[in-house]
Amino acid sequence: MSRLVVSNHPLIRHKVTLLRSKDTEPKKFRELIREVAMLLAYEATADLGLEECLVQTPLASTIGYELTDKIGLVPILRAGLGMVEGIWELMPAAEVWHIGLYRDHKSLQPVQYYNKLPVHPTVQVCLILDPMLATGGSAVAAVDVLKKWGAKRIKYVGIIGAPEGVERLRTAHPDVDIHLAVLDDHLTPAPVNEKDPPQGYIVPGLGDAGDRQFGTG
Ligand code: URA
Repeated sequence: MSRLVVSNHPLIRHKVTLLRSKDTEPKKFRELIREVAMLLAYEATADLGLEECLVQTPLASTIGYELTDKIGLVPILRAGLGMVEGIWELMPAAEVWHIGLYRDHKSLQPVQYYNKLPVHPTVQVCLILDPMLATGGSAVAAVDVLKKWGAKRIKYVGIIGAPEGVERLRTAHPDVDIHLAVLDDHLTPAPVNEKDPPQGYIVPGLGDAGDRQFGTG
């Protein structure tokens, strides 16, 4: 079974609280997504491969380490985009491959509309980036795409997860570790009244992560 790692880092918990607040403006929201993604990626990459190398300091020659794994960042459009920048600062050599999936509001099934992956895999470790692991449909579909591509090691980095999404992803892909800032309570049911939120939103969550980043809500 995959590892589910829910961070208990105080910085992450503080920043997620700000992300949740309905009063947080898009500019601040984007900054927080970037920062939380960076902190989560730090934890999610703790097992990357290293090899020894020699490094010359101004004083002496000593043993150093070089990363052996090439990393691919795979943001799920569009909400995953905001997670790229911070992580890229940590690992500037990472390749970024976008996958476009939207969730059909009626069927709640993921529909792929963008994928420009090259024919053969060019990276050893893929980090799927999507802030909200809600029903898990998009996450499972993204892993399916990457596995078909030939990716061998895949991790999911999200910010808020729902138990339903975690369960679905772990069942479909037990080899994919899941890194989250927080595991929330449940998903919204099908709306009964006009004012009810759409089905499949995370509660308490933070609303629509795409709309809140791009100011389109
Ligand atoms: N996508 C979002 O942006 N928010 C949710 O709560 C669920 C899916």
